[in-house]
Amino acid sequence: MKFTTTEKQIIARFDNEVTRARWTDWKWQLKHCITDMETFEKLMGVTFSPEKRTRIQQTIDTFPMAITPYYLSLIDSDDMENDPVFAQAFPSEKELELLPCDMDDPLHEDTDSPVPGLTHRYPDRVLLLVSSTCAMYCRHCTRKRKVGDVDSIPDKAEISAGIQYIREHPEVRDVLLSGGDPLMLSDEYLDWILTEIRAIEHVEIIRIGTRIPVVLPYRVTDNLVQMLKKHHPLWLNTQFNHPKELTASSRWALARLADAGIPLGNQSVLLNTINDCPRIMKSLVQKLVYNRVRPYYIYQCDLSMGLSHFRTSVGKGIEIMESLRGHTSGLCVPTYVIDAPGGGGKIPINPTYLISWSTHKVVLRNYEGVITTYQEPDSYKPVYCDQDCEHCTLQLKLADADEYKATGIERLLCDYDDSYAMSPEQPDEEEPAQEMQEALSVQ
Ligand SMILES: *Cc1c(COP(=O)(O)O)cnc(C)c1O
Repeated sequence: MKFTTTEKQIIARFDNEVTRARWTDWKWQLKHCITDMETFEKLMGVTFSPEKRTRIQQTIDTFPMAITPYYLSLIDSDDMENDPVFAQAFPSEKELELLPCDMDDPLHEDTDSPVPGLTHRYPDRVLLLVSSTCAMYCRHCTRKRKVGDVDSIPDKAEISAGIQYIREHPEVRDVLLSGGDPLMLSDEYLDWILTEIRAIEHVEIIRIGTRIPVVLPYRVTDNLVQMLKKHHPLWLNTQFNHPKELTASSRWALARLADAGIPLGNQSVLLNTINDCPRIMKSLVQKLVYNRVRPYYIYQCDLSMGLSHFRTSVGKGIEIMESLRGHTSGLCVPTYVIDAPGGGGKIPINPTYLISWSTHKVVLRNYEGVITTYQEPDSYKPVYCDQDCEHCTLQLKLADADEYKATGIERLLCDYDDSYAMSPEQPDEEEPAQEMQEALSVQ
């Protein structure tokens, strides 16, 4: 790998000598993360006004900054204010502007948590937070309430309690490790966590959510990859938000992970002035697939504290989906979701393709605007399911078929349940975190 021009520039501005080996050593990178404004100014060769410095410092005091030297080197210093990497990594005073709709924990991750650090929202899978630190603190982080906060670092006892919960819940077949960033843990510690979870018989898959391939690709060492591949089936989801982030180094990290048989997915966040453009998104998803990463989700930006300047309209997301489906490989098309405030989970949002229907025909439109019909079969006889798999002609033969309970909308549709209406309990109204509001409104 050759150094890029900006890498060379930044390396030259470090006081101590940086050899190639040290630049690509992830521990060196972590040790030299940029956490204060002076170092940022020095390495980028810029000077902020005293007023700007004061405002940025206030932001850093509330939400910490950390940028790896590698990620910093992707910033275009000639057009910094418009740079998508700068916007994701460098604090903005706008983070201190709070709207009435801003919430401390919009996804109710803490509310819906049976044991600290574990969220059990869906029937068959759980989210387990195993770290509260990251190599780079994304300015748009949905868990700003936690990351970088020393009081939020989960210790071994907390993680053990989470794993014990999974052990006691046979319905959990999928465990998502997140944080912070799970790949900030040492190989040995992560190996221990994965071994413990893998030993649970009912756990089928383990997923890791990490931004390491984007912000610190050198963390993907041989040793890490050899360790991870012992725990298959293991999936890994990362978060590239802009095609510019797919550098030679990050592509090399992705290739190593893919070569180890780890299926890779990407969860982008739709961000104002960063990637809210159909052409940027199309280029991003195509580059991801070229690098064996399946675009999985595009998230509407959450209602977490201080993210209002990052949010786009929902219409922008639909416009982007409209520009992808049909126009490029289906493999490149992620699902656009809103993670519902109040802990409703991810809700897919799509352009509408089903325009109308009658008893035997549906009217559809395609991506080009062609309007067409699909004639439904007259011969299709509804099969009423009475949960008697034993005498059903479809081959499934579920042993405990009659124990299966449909829930949610599925329950309204099924034949073996008499419910014809639902009224979910009123979700709690979320007060914007008062303390935080007050703390920030004094300036
Ligand atoms: C996102 C999420 C999951 C996983 O959702 P998938 O749609 O299966 O990827 C699980 N639990 C929580 C709390 C989540 O936020």
